[in-house]
Amino acid sequence: MQQTKAYSAASAASPLKMDMIKRRETTARDVQIEILYCGICHSDLHTVRNEWSETMATTYPCVPGHEIVGRVTAVGASVTNFKTGDLVGVGCMVDSDHVCDNCRADVEQFCPDATFTYNSPDKHLGGVTYGGYSENIVVDERFVLHAPENLEPAGIAPLLCAGITTYSPIRRWGDIEGKKVGVVGLGGLGHMGVKFARAFGAHVVVFTTSPGKKEDALRLGAHEVIISTDAEEMQKHAGSFDFILDTVSAQHDINTYIGMLGLDGTITLVGAPEKPLPVSAFALLFGRKCLSGSLIGGIRETQEMLDFCGKHNITADVEVIPIQDVNNAYERMLKSDVKYRFSIDMATLKD
Ligand SMILES: [Zn+2]
Ligand SMILES: [Zn+2]
Repeated sequence: MQQTKAYSAASAASPLKMDMIKRRETTARDVQIEILYCGICHSDLHTVRNEWSETMATTYPCVPGHEIVGRVTAVGASVTNFKTGDLVGVGCMVDSDHVCDNCRADVEQFCPDATFTYNSPDKHLGGVTYGGYSENIVVDERFVLHAPENLEPAGIAPLLCAGITTYSPIRRWGDIEGKKVGVVGLGGLGHMGVKFARAFGAHVVVFTTSPGKKEDALRLGAHEVIISTDAEEMQKHAGSFDFILDTVSAQHDINTYIGMLGLDGTITLVGAPEKPLPVSAFALLFGRKCLSGSLIGGIRETQEMLDFCGKHNITADVEVIPIQDVNNAYERMLKSDVKYRFSIDMATLKD
């Protein structure tokens, strides 16, 4: 067992602060990683504050962080895919049972025995897993990803959650080249959705409530921006979309967006509003529309996404912060005051 520095929360009401946590010794299959950057995901905040207590109650102390990028510092005897010095990523999962139908279908995120990167039962040490707000992490090589060396590590980190969350549904929808694709919301998830949809050759339209985001949406790759509160503008585009990626996690009227879809159009939710959203059956029936959801992606697909990003020079737009600013960053994230993801420079943990 080794001791490592981390930022943890002691209770739902406590700020994150410096702590010492345990990491296991590197076993034969493990990769030890010095963490360079860790993105801040909304899930981190929900978990730290125990806001998902009904489905996934938080065990304290809690060390969040599942958008991890770092360098390999040691590998176990039977590790074949990684060597010391490799630039690697770790996302939302660190293990699974490897044998169930979902694991065999490369969708480990739906494994009934998946081990998530934090606040998940730790099969090695007992207690719960500790995430990426720390100096290093030890992970089974099957859940470690190769990160593209040509990209800025700070901007790679958010690809491990926000990136795969938006890449996966776009890929699964099919060939979107030349199709009209909408992205609802321009935050951490939405800005990645825009980049991916554009890179796959779609005609990309951003729906936002903030006129101030128009210019930025165009810079990120959108062809058009619709201010969703402008009924006239919305009406002009009704029934014209092939696919819409809805990234909004606040309460909102999805029937409006179902109405934007054309025949056989699909809207996929990747945001998770706290309360159920009312859905009009009529809105779905007329035009045979499809409403679906998506959750991160499997390991194989996450590697494919990272390779795609390397090839197309795609990273998240990040504001790099020292770990000492993490509590303030949470408050700013709640106000959507970040373009578009915070990435923690983990070297500051040594200060
Ligand atoms: Zn996340
Ligand atoms: Zn499984």
